[in-house]
Amino acid sequence: MGFTIIPICKHCGYKTESISVGGGRMNHLTVCGAPAWNIENNEIEGINLYNYKKTIVIRKKFLYFFNRKVIVEKINDKYVPYYEPRMFIEDKEIGTHNWNNKHYKKRKNFCPKCKSFNLDFIDGGIMFD
Ligand SMILES: [Zn+2]
Repeated sequence: MGFTIIPICKHCGYKTESISVGGGRMNHLTVCGAPAWNIENNEIEGINLYNYKKTIVIRKKFLYFFNRKVIVEKINDKYVPYYEPRMFIEDKEIGTHNWNNKHYKKRKNFCPKCKSFNLDFIDGGIMFD
């Protein structure tokens, strides 16, 4: 069972719909929700971390005529999840929302609209299956 958070900026008033963090009882192996900054449309969106990192296979030539498959982990660079250190101001006084080993600051997060660190993640409640 996960929970939801609502991003609200105290500086400019930017706010989005509630965002799911973690996964439900039935889908926690395939879904791990997280708030992330969408660089393309400059909005905060919920993403699935299981889709965020994907492995791609590339072919590399070696010894002139053989192809070798090389697996590379590629990060979806359209999104920056809010557990990244550059997305908040480190302040030990501020509590976190936690899911597994991912931590989201309750305050002082980056706001994509006014580019300040005044965004709060307020409690949106428990998410049931
Ligand atoms: Zn703002």
